[in-house]
Amino acid sequence: MAGDLYLFSAKSEPPHQQVKSVVYKIKSFSGTSSSPTRRTINYTRYNLRFHSLFAQRDRDRERMEAKKAYNTVDLLKSEVPLEWDPELALATEVQAGRPVGLVLIDEVNGFCTVGAGNLAPTQPNKQIEKMIQESNKLAKFFSNKGWPIFVFLDTHFPDKPEPPYPPHCIIGSGEENLVPELEWLEKDPNATLKRKHCIDGFLFCTEEDGSNAFADWVNNNEIKTVLVLGICTDICVLDFVSSALSARNLERVSPLEDVVIYSEGCATYDLPYDAALKIKGALSHPQELMHHMGLYIAKGRGAKIVNSVSLM
Ligand SMILES: [Zn+2]
Repeated sequence: MAGDLYLFSAKSEPPHQQVKSVVYKIKSFSGTSSSPTRRTINYTRYNLRFHSLFAQRDRDRERMEAKKAYNTVDLLKSEVPLEWDPELALATEVQAGRPVGLVLIDEVNGFCTVGAGNLAPTQPNKQIEKMIQESNKLAKFFSNKGWPIFVFLDTHFPDKPEPPYPPHCIIGSGEENLVPELEWLEKDPNATLKRKHCIDGFLFCTEEDGSNAFADWVNNNEIKTVLVLGICTDICVLDFVSSALSARNLERVSPLEDVVIYSEGCATYDLPYDAALKIKGALSHPQELMHHMGLYIAKGRGAKIVNSVSLM
């Protein structure tokens, strides 16, 4: 009987309080019938000590798991380390006769605004917030200088799915529009906005007659370097950059020489392994690792990867 009382009453108390509290309760409760034996009290103390030990063991295990996950990402990254290219100094580059064009990829509500849709973050995300902040800063600088900006916006018709992804950025939903911080670009004379219905923006720009709106933009502005920011690092950014580099190698994007990705201006979505297990057919997509891999693969395709862009 005394044991039942302890189980019910002591759970909400911190472990160090529990022993004292239970002894007190056993004494009080038993006082109305018979005195508790020393054996009963010791037995309860013994149980509580184990309860406390198990709780500590669970906390240690959680800490170990978190540490292991952190080390796993670091370990994987160490097998495919990124070698950063030198900082891109924008004004210096342009003064040296190498005009730079800014490319922003898919910084729309459907991918960036919390709760905006099937592919939007479910909670505030630092990598995405940083990307928007850096994009806004650089876009304002380009705009003030009168330098060219090319903006892709992922946009879909309701009756045309984009497997393997669930419906997203459907026309009229608001998901297909730029995030509030970048909405000003819609009216900026230096910005060319291009809605796209597929992952690869470069491919989407290619018309049936072989012309390409992006290549025309590069040519008209005599761009030698494009600076790319956007989301997702390992999907739309990677595909655009890879196609643009192939086209450059085929001399179809003249006078383009360099494609530079700014790591702090890119982001990808986060779907950790444990969360992916709960979604039928979903692939695990840990943000930090996939962002790194996106940059790494792009570097392997010939892109320059910088973690610093100077306005000077
Ligand atoms: Zn899409």
